[in-house]
Amino acid sequence: MPLGSMPLKALLIEDNPADADLIHEALDEAMAALEGTRFEVLHVRRLAEAEALLAGGDIAVVLLDLSLPDSQGLDTFARIRERAPDIPIVVLSGLQDEMMAVRAVREGAQDYLVKGQVDGLVLLRSLRYAIARAHAETERVRLLRQRTEAEAALRARDEVLATISHDLKNPLASIKASAQLLQRRMTNGQPPDPAQLTERLGFIARTATQMARLLDDLVDTARLEAGRDLALQLAPIDLVDLVTRVVADLQSTSEQHVLRTEVPAQAVVGEWDAARLERVLANLLANAIKYSPSGGQIVVRLRHEAADDTAWAVLEVRDEGIGIPPHDLPHIFERFYRASNVVEAIPGTGLGLFVVRQIVVHHGGTITVESESGRGTTFTVRLPLARP
Ligand code: ATP
Ligand code: MG
Repeated sequence: MPLGSMPLKALLIEDNPADADLIHEALDEAMAALEGTRFEVLHVRRLAEAEALLAGGDIAVVLLDLSLPDSQGLDTFARIRERAPDIPIVVLSGLQDEMMAVRAVREGAQDYLVKGQVDGLVLLRSLRYAIARAHAETERVRLLRQRTEAEAALRARDEVLATISHDLKNPLASIKASAQLLQRRMTNGQPPDPAQLTERLGFIARTATQMARLLDDLVDTARLEAGRDLALQLAPIDLVDLVTRVVADLQSTSEQHVLRTEVPAQAVVGEWDAARLERVLANLLANAIKYSPSGGQIVVRLRHEAADDTAWAVLEVRDEGIGIPPHDLPHIFERFYRASNVVEAIPGTGLGLFVVRQIVVHHGGTITVESESGRGTTFTVRLPLARP
């Protein structure tokens, strides 16, 4: 250590003035004889005073007599430790309580010295080693925490991959089964009639669309996670037209549900990313269908609204499904979050609404949800008609 560098502060907690003087002298002598880290000793007699000084935060090491007027034995050690868990402690003990000092070391003290036998050089080295060991320990704990976090992130990624491959495998298996069925019937000389063929091919196309949507959601999520922007492809589009198209598409996926649209007579045009907004509505509609397992009506309503000096296009998707329990409601836009009433019962990745919200926000809009368990859910998307 270079000469003239600042001495470190050592806090000596010792009620016996004669012992304190001896320690001072021994340490001064040793520092005069030995180069290296120097210490400035701050001396207090009571635990309470020590606690006040430790709160200051610049003490490098504590030299602690275990029997003080206001605290005795291991309790003294425990209280200092609790007050300053990262500061190394060297315990001072009398000959008669050496066993207690040993126990303090077992509980985390860096070292102990027996009073009356303290040699200055031993004391000085003990303080220096105590600090070095405490630093090494802090570093070890930091590295351990880093490793644990890295392992948790890897595990989380594996879980996500497992969920996603599961969610892709199911529709893929259905597509394959449909194609094989058609193929068998062709080779068996029992070709399907045009109606059956149309129905099967329609199913294949719809299922593939669904898979493509999940993959697009994944790509957007990965972009956002990597800190990249969504890079919206903005162009003037008419929401009335978009709503009509997406609703017809999703209606074809369910016979149990009636999808009703309420749209203005005129076009609702804004500068938007058409593919992304299609996915917003498709995700909301797919949810409305999926989470209304006993069928029912789903209403998609589009209207103009003027608020806060801005003209908004407001898109509402309302279903009569299972609803979302109140305690889950604040979380449903979080990545991979699924409400407690659907886990196990209805398959899903928990990605859709996360991406929906990101897309809407990137358009300068907002999305809100209202829901009642067992009664139904309404999602409301607001998009600014003129971008600021
Ligand atoms: P996916 O990523 O395949 O869409 P998901 O549907 O589970 O999976 P999100 O669309 O993000 O994921 O929805 C998150 C959760 O919000 C759902 O798991 C469900 O609990 C709840 N939820 C969303 N929409 C509705 C709805 N219309 N009715 C009831 N619950 C809903
Ligand atoms: Mg969904």
